[in-house]
Amino acid sequence: MVKFDKCFDRESVNAIKRSVDLALLEIEKLAGRKIAFPQNISCMSESEVSRGRRIRGLGHEEGAGHGMLSCDGKCIVKVNRDMSAYNILANVVHENIHFAFPEKGEVETDSLTEFVLEKLKKRRNRSVES
Ligand SMILES: [Zn+2]
Repeated sequence: MVKFDKCFDRESVNAIKRSVDLALLEIEKLAGRKIAFPQNISCMSESEVSRGRRIRGLGHEEGAGHGMLSCDGKCIVKVNRDMSAYNILANVVHENIHFAFPEKGEVETDSLTEFVLEKLKKRRNRSVES
């Protein structure tokens, strides 16, 4: 189970917690192996967000600064908390794909993110029907 830091809005966390866990399972399926994902999701500081915005263009066309992987011994995922719950989810998925597939570039990481989010959507629709 992934743990969100207290800095996040509780409502957003409750809305996406389960989806994050399901997304990680989907990423493991893509990788074909078990992955020891970072267990903590934390908030980017304001300076990390503004520093991130400056690296616009490196695949982050809308300006980065929405998510990062911070590895110092062990890795944690950090995201900008000033986003909708869905965008927090999308960025958490994106960063975990970087973690699972460090060799993949930004474009490929983005399309895998889309793929995983689509899978979650389908899953959700199925459980609504039944
Ligand atoms: Zn990225």
